[in-house]
Amino acid sequence: MKQIFILLIFLFSTDACRAFDLQATSNISAGTIVVEIDSSAWIPAGYIRWSGRSREVRFIHAFEGFVREPCFSVLAAGAQAFRYAVPFFSARSPHLSMGELCGHLYVLFDDPILSASDERTRRFIADHEAFHIAAQMYGAKVPIVFVGDRPQIEAESRSFLRNLERVLNASSLVGVGDAYDSVCALLEKYHLHTSSAERQALSHWIFWEWPAEDYAFRMLRKNHHADIEDYLRIRTLLGDSEVYALGPIVGMALDQMVGQAVWQHRIQQGETMLDVLVGSCTSGRGNKEYPTIEMSRVTFEFVSLDARD
Ligand SMILES: [Zn+2]
Repeated sequence: MKQIFILLIFLFSTDACRAFDLQATSNISAGTIVVEIDSSAWIPAGYIRWSGRSREVRFIHAFEGFVREPCFSVLAAGAQAFRYAVPFFSARSPHLSMGELCGHLYVLFDDPILSASDERTRRFIADHEAFHIAAQMYGAKVPIVFVGDRPQIEAESRSFLRNLERVLNASSLVGVGDAYDSVCALLEKYHLHTSSAERQALSHWIFWEWPAEDYAFRMLRKNHHADIEDYLRIRTLLGDSEVYALGPIVGMALDQMVGQAVWQHRIQQGETMLDVLVGSCTSGRGNKEYPTIEMSRVTFEFVSLDARD
């Protein structure tokens, strides 16, 4: 089994440390959300390689809530330096970062929009992000090509996503099986008009985002009795719904087509939800042969500029 060791490097300055001293004296315990991975929403949860005895992900505001964390002194310094962090996914998400510290999995956020969101929305995002680190990084085989910065999604790929959503929404009226030929036709057309690099870029997003979004939707439905319309309202506010909203939509289609346990197991083994959806379409073949890795120790590392001077 190949494993990868990923470091997220945090840099902090003396000014940042001074600012933290002021923060530490106030009441900053609010905002921490403890997330467990629910095996009714993600059936392969048993594959998660938890780093310690802890079976949870702690979703915390980078400047609040960490005083009670087990690795307070280290995390505090790092959290204060959060704005200098190298984000895991890309510069498009500079306000979220995730990693392991002292046997616990953490998601740190420093996002004014998120801070101002209602509790249901924050819980939704916490479930989504916790899924990334626990169920995917620590719990699935990850195709090597999908590790690292996320590529741009090109116009042709976005058009494919819009058409796919239209076909799947229409299919809910007549049965998913009836939509299969239309989905295959869309895929054929998409293959004709795009390069393999462009298709790989889209697969990169789909691999990470659709299952995380589907999982967060299932938890929203379970904990808040939300339906797909409630979810779509939340996602519209959060943005980029064209890419993300297909996660729950395709998830519901796959439940009907192959069953939740079957498709989720295939995702855990490194396929994308699109791979499973288009399984026997001609153009779908060959997409699932990327070599995979199992990540271990996605860590935060803190580097003091002072110490290096
Ligand atoms: Zn995500």
